[in-house]
Amino acid sequence: MLFVADSMLGKLARYLRIMGYDTFYQPRYPDQRLSELVREGRILLTRNRATARLYSNSIFIDRDLVKDQLKVVDSTLRLARDHRNWFSRCLICDSPLYKAEEQVARENVPDFVFFKYPQRILSCPTCKRFFWPGTHRQRMVERLKDWGF
Ligand SMILES: [Zn+2]
Repeated sequence: MLFVADSMLGKLARYLRIMGYDTFYQPRYPDQRLSELVREGRILLTRNRATARLYSNSIFIDRDLVKDQLKVVDSTLRLARDHRNWFSRCLICDSPLYKAEEQVARENVPDFVFFKYPQRILSCPTCKRFFWPGTHRQRMVERLKDWGF
């Protein structure tokens, strides 16, 4: 399942990425970009009822809170409960993450992170950010579990 989220659904896109779903998102789309992405096979998630009517492969998200928005997607498509895919994509740009080489990780993350998680530091090949387990990530996991995922 590949998604494209309209510009009003940034938080939803972020949570879908956390769960490992390939989710295209930009804060602004040039004309026709959304329809190109749908033609390429992505499921459109939109806050706009009229836009949703234009595409059979779309879900109209009629909720304000990300928790409820995720539930709309889940009730339509039944999202996987497989936590092994969580945190496998870059939250910022959607690229799949790779385990960072030890030397590269050491040079690019704070020392305490490197020494705490030497084998669990991931990097994004596209935007060059680094990700690691931590309290922020733990909060997102707990939130998703609270929501039934
Ligand atoms: Zn990235």
